[in-house]
Amino acid sequence: MKHVRDFYVFLGPPGAGKGTQAKVVAHRLGIPQISSGDLFRENIKNQTEMGIQANEYIKVGDLVPDDVTVAMVRERISRTDCMNGAILDGFPRTPAQAKAFDGILSETGCKLNRVPYIKVPEEALIERLSGRLTCRDKGHVFHKSYNPPKEPGVCDFDGSELYQREDDRPETVARRIRVYIERTQPLIEYYQDRDVLVEVDGDRDIETITADLVKLLEVEETNV
Ligand code: AMP
Repeated sequence: MKHVRDFYVFLGPPGAGKGTQAKVVAHRLGIPQISSGDLFRENIKNQTEMGIQANEYIKVGDLVPDDVTVAMVRERISRTDCMNGAILDGFPRTPAQAKAFDGILSETGCKLNRVPYIKVPEEALIERLSGRLTCRDKGHVFHKSYNPPKEPGVCDFDGSELYQREDDRPETVARRIRVYIERTQPLIEYYQDRDVLVEVDGDRDIETITADLVKLLEVEETNV
């Protein structure tokens, strides 16, 4: 049986495939996938005040300030669809966010079950990000060469338009990778120290990685 309110954090550099994997694995486990990047893009699309401010950081490849990000995620995970837990992708991204997230989990009696760290060599990231296509409606992700949609420019899952994110342009991609190394990579040790980190080789085909992740998280569930 699944734990009640178990959370999983998918960690890895931009372009590792966190979003692609988190969406499929969450669906298989019957829990929501929460992407802080998708939440920001939703706010930008709806022109909320927070979205307009966040976009100033996002478009240049910087991180949105911790207080804004934590407040947004806190609100999202308080909703009823997260009653059985969730997979978080893209959050936390700094040690301060990780500490705030620990606080949210303990306040609400939830547990961080596992942190799969999807590892991909740095050289592969630029190519993956600059060929990436994202769906306007739900943020499904494709790649021009490695994972093309069935019909060019159209999302296989919901038929919405595919576009290249402004921050997936080559000049911004390099900055995002640098920001990841400086600000997010310390979380590998943070979660290693808490004994929840599991390394997953992200340099394989999508289905093989999904199968590994599902097995990893399901084994955890049946072992309790
Ligand atoms: P992503 O879709 O995860 O690649 O996120 C796109 C952009 O949103 C990032 O480059 C950041 O500018 C911003 N963002 C997403 N998640 C976070 C976070 N946890 N902390 C700060 N900024 C974030």
